[in-house]
Amino acid sequence: MGNFNKMTVWDPQMAFQTTRHKSSRSVGLATRNLQNLRRLDFLAGGALVDGQWVSGGERDHVIDPATGEEIADVARCGAAEMEVAIAAAERSFPGWRELLPARRGAILRSWASLMLEHAEELAILVTCEQGKPLAEARHEIAYGAGFLEWFAAEGERAYGETIPSHKIGSLLQVRMQPIGIAAAITPWNFPVAMITRKAGAALAAGCPIIVKPAPETPLSALALARLAEQAGLPPGVFQVLVGNPIELSAPLLNHTRIRALSFTGSTEIGRLLLEGAAESVKKVSLELGGHAPFLVFDDVDLEKAVRGVMAAKFATSGQDCLAANRIYVQRSIYGDFVEAFSAAMTQLRVGHGLEPTTDIGPMTKLSVANKCRSQIDEAMKKGARVVSAKQGATLGPNFVPPTLLSDVTEDMLIAREETFGPVAAVLPFDSEEEVIARANASEMGLAGYVYTDSLRRALRLSERIECGMLGINTASFTGPPIPFGGWKQSGLGREGSRHGLAEYMELKYVCFGDLAA
Ligand code: NAP
Repeated sequence: MGNFNKMTVWDPQMAFQTTRHKSSRSVGLATRNLQNLRRLDFLAGGALVDGQWVSGGERDHVIDPATGEEIADVARCGAAEMEVAIAAAERSFPGWRELLPARRGAILRSWASLMLEHAEELAILVTCEQGKPLAEARHEIAYGAGFLEWFAAEGERAYGETIPSHKIGSLLQVRMQPIGIAAAITPWNFPVAMITRKAGAALAAGCPIIVKPAPETPLSALALARLAEQAGLPPGVFQVLVGNPIELSAPLLNHTRIRALSFTGSTEIGRLLLEGAAESVKKVSLELGGHAPFLVFDDVDLEKAVRGVMAAKFATSGQDCLAANRIYVQRSIYGDFVEAFSAAMTQLRVGHGLEPTTDIGPMTKLSVANKCRSQIDEAMKKGARVVSAKQGATLGPNFVPPTLLSDVTEDMLIAREETFGPVAAVLPFDSEEEVIARANASEMGLAGYVYTDSLRRALRLSERIECGMLGINTASFTGPPIPFGGWKQSGLGREGSRHGLAEYMELKYVCFGDLAA
């Protein structure tokens, strides 16, 4: 193992004492739940570098976004630790690449089983640091484990192809081979599933991967690393380093041996990373912002459409790149829809994610809550109406009450930019042609939704809406088998499905010549 500068190898005794010290203070809901975890090592906060848990040096605080309470701290890694990790990944690559795909698959399955065995503890970690309701966090753990299982099997099916030859006496093969060392920069909205969706694919393909989780949500990432180690992932094959995003991403971008970079986050940072990766011509996968149109036609059952929009808007408290951001409703049912939507929204309960009654938790980042508030203010100044706004603002600065804005127009910020919070903007439309043009008049193209009872219309719209993922009469369509990704400035490449595996593989064309007898 290389030199870790100020960092030291993790001491389990020390971590235990730190946790006990916290228990003697007056503590909040999150800390009380964390103290009862079966696995106190999930809270140790060390980085996993080259098979070692490194700690010490400077620490970063992890905050419960609902209360502002400090719930843990984690080792802050820098460029020097990242260099050590890159060297370890390089050393681990040949051994990992040479394993039979079935053997790699067995380790991934064992990792998935451990995730499910510790699902409750992982879910508590997610809720404490990210804020989402515990039921949604539990769902995320199952969803996240699903990617490991999916890619465990998919890695065994990276067949390549044989091409009917265009040359006499030759055999043309296309092989799929691991691309090399991969890096993942993951977001805070799905702090577990976005790691397993990237790492599952890379590892199944035969690539070691270095993960830099979001600074807001390191605990669940480090707990995943504990389970990865327990599942038998060899040193250097899966590493997790937490720290300053710019300092940690610079070596990942600059190093020529890192061949694939996958990022989920804003389009703004995605563009910067794409630019940074240009120098070493890496393969870059980007899952960036959304601004999903949700189209409701007047032939549809209103209740069904309202159920759909509730799910598409308020999952993850609105902090979801698939979230419905522009809800277009045909004018003849506009008033009835707004009324029914508003009635459904009054049922939403706002609170701490650990409270069993909570539907909407805090925004993970204050900046996201502030963006929601400024979009509401700007829309109101331009004539939008607040039809419904639940309580929640008084719970703390990161809470945004679920808010329904009607009479939104295209010139308002909320109609032009992703909101990423529980604010629903409803806009009337008259004709199919008009709403298609308005839905497509965005530089984003991640997801879209259409609610209609007409099969012809559904088929027409499925062809014409410019997005990577379209739900027709459904708001629930994600999962390991689907190619998740966007058009236009919503991203590059796909995650999940067989296409997700291909992001971490190179094609090699081999021509065997002179075969004629
Ligand atoms: P972001 O702007 O994409 O930032 C992601 C991470 O990149 C942050 O940790 C940020 O650090 C870091 N970063 C900043 N400059 C960087 C650089 N030059 N090189 C490498 N990393 C850098 O996301 P955010 O601020 O957390 O959220 C803002 C918006 O992003 C959201 O409102 C939402 O629209 C979008 N978002 C989308 C998804 C998704 O699922 N597609 C997920 C999360 C966020 P700092 O925090 O220190 O700036």
